[in-house]
Amino acid sequence: LTGNYEERDAVVLGGGIFGLFAARTLLSKKSSVTLLERDPKIFSRASSINQARVHLGYHYPRSLGTALYSAQFFNRFVEDYAECINRSFDKIYAISSRNSYTSAAQFESFCRMLNIPVEPVSPHLYFSRGSVEGCYLTKEYTFDAKLLANAVGGKVLDDPRFELSLNNFCVRVESSGSHYLLTCADGRKIKTPLVVNATYASVNQVLELFDQECLPMKYEITELALGGVSESFQNVGITVMDGPFFSLIPHGLTGLHSLTGVEYTPHESSAKSLPTFSCQSETNGCSPKILKNCDTCSSRPKTSSHFMYQLAKRYLSSSFEFKHERSHFAVKAMLRTSEVDDARPTYVLVSGNGPKLVSVLSGKINTIYELERALS
Ligand SMILES: Cc1cc2nc3c(=O)[nH]c(=O)nc-3n(C[C@H](O)[C@H](O)[C@H](O)COP(=O)(O)OP(=O)(O)OC[C@H]3O[C@@H](n4cnc5c(N)ncnc54)[C@H](O)[C@@H]3O)c2cc1C
Repeated sequence: LTGNYEERDAVVLGGGIFGLFAARTLLSKKSSVTLLERDPKIFSRASSINQARVHLGYHYPRSLGTALYSAQFFNRFVEDYAECINRSFDKIYAISSRNSYTSAAQFESFCRMLNIPVEPVSPHLYFSRGSVEGCYLTKEYTFDAKLLANAVGGKVLDDPRFELSLNNFCVRVESSGSHYLLTCADGRKIKTPLVVNATYASVNQVLELFDQECLPMKYEITELALGGVSESFQNVGITVMDGPFFSLIPHGLTGLHSLTGVEYTPHESSAKSLPTFSCQSETNGCSPKILKNCDTCSSRPKTSSHFMYQLAKRYLSSSFEFKHERSHFAVKAMLRTSEVDDARPTYVLVSGNGPKLVSVLSGKINTIYELERALS
């Protein structure tokens, strides 16, 4: 203790995959790391509520940079977290016959340029007649978020040099020489030379608290519908590209499929610097400055799963059925520039003179390794 401040080598804000991976990376060099998580448990927002796709690039025919970037980390991620990966399904990408931004020929040449597997297969196996222009067997996996939380969190949580503080966050920041002086919501005071801001949809809230310039952000309240599918689709993942279509993929190893629709998954979007949504007026304590968890919120949107189901039914063969079991909601955060080319870079920003604030806005789960570079 220095005065009434506890000294820690580093403080991580946010207990999603990026925060836990940051803590794990820091523990290879530091002897005391504290992680503050606003929610009552770790992995309660985007790290659990997402399509669980381990990207190899197929999804980004309009952003070669994002495609190459996804491919770069694919092998390492599926090897490091092999026990969390579902490989055992047919990964089908198809190009819609109507309104697609990318044609079948363009998709094929894009895959060949990236040197990723793309094998044309008959659309009749999965699709109704005429609904798609091209249909391909590809290589793509999904991860199981619960197993991933154990795998990434496991080693960190048991480390005596690591401390997890739940229901806690930083309310005040001052600088003193080479250190930050943090005051936490529970009244605790911490002195540290390094803070990692891994709060994803709250990244700008933290940047503002640290008196730093905000990122140009866009936010969406998104819905992930989970359910069971008819037998002929149980070992299949379908993604129809490239525009207002849908994805239906095995949700890790849960036995359920996630169903999303480009037009129905986002319920409300905000292009303000801080996440600003109409439901915040009804929600106790949620505001542009404090973003609460949509998944546990009583004002979360009503499900659009029936619209997603109708859309999928229009494309898929008549044997397709989806029995909606439940939906989860999370705020998706991205840079405003990604609207142009659909790019999803993982952005790491180092700021502060003296003490350092490292902020990460991730586009893809398998880009956690970017933190190794930044934190070294
Ligand atoms: C609908 C959807 C689908 C997606 N699909 C995919 C996909 O298929 N594949 C893929 O790779 N990626 C996908 N993503 C992106 C991926 O989910 C994110 O890039 C990733 O989960 C972000 O991880 P994170 O740890 O940064 O954020 P989170 O998991 O959201 O963790 C941030 C944590 O910070 C906490 N927090 C917030 N404010 C504070 C504060 N002030 N102090 C302390 N704690 C705070 C939050 O409670 C939260 O636990 C998807 C995202 C969404 C929303």
